[in-house]
Amino acid sequence: MQLSPQRAAKGRDGSPLALSIGGLGLPYAKMGLKCRYAGAVRDGDARWMSYAVELAGRSPRSASAFAVGSVIVDPGGREVSAGWSRDTDPLVHAEESALLKAAGADLGECTLYSTLEPCSKRAHRPDATCTSLILAARIPRVVIAWREPDIFVTCEGVALLTASGVRVVELAEFAPQARAVNGHLPGL
Ligand SMILES: [Zn+2]
Repeated sequence: MQLSPQRAAKGRDGSPLALSIGGLGLPYAKMGLKCRYAGAVRDGDARWMSYAVELAGRSPRSASAFAVGSVIVDPGGREVSAGWSRDTDPLVHAEESALLKAAGADLGECTLYSTLEPCSKRAHRPDATCTSLILAARIPRVVIAWREPDIFVTCEGVALLTASGVRVVELAEFAPQARAVNGHLPGL
């Protein structure tokens, strides 16, 4: 997937500015993009999340697990790695897969996109939740589409990431697409 380089607009404090559309200086939030953390949305976030939704659709379906897509993007707007649920083994999670494929790379300025809130409890690999893997990889920014509903476990991924200083952005307008990929799950 080819995407144009991310614009490196920076605020006075060096933090990235929200996307301006058409040079009008209107931040994304004012243009109707729903985000719980106004001002935190960056140019490219919506396109990368669209790509993550597409990746989620590649997941082999399971009646006991979500179908999720994830992509890690560097500060220059380039894909570092991507993964989806059960893409490399029957238990691997999307974020875990993307992180494993990026092993050895410096992810200290990257953004991880996931269609679902990163897990904080995991039955099969309790020591390797996606939340703990993201923290271990020192990823500073996570963009999600959909908070995990409590049909399998209670997820505290966003709370734990935020408490550890990770900037979490929720693109709620993508939640219906992220959920639709999981239409097979009982209880949804
Ligand atoms: Zn996970």
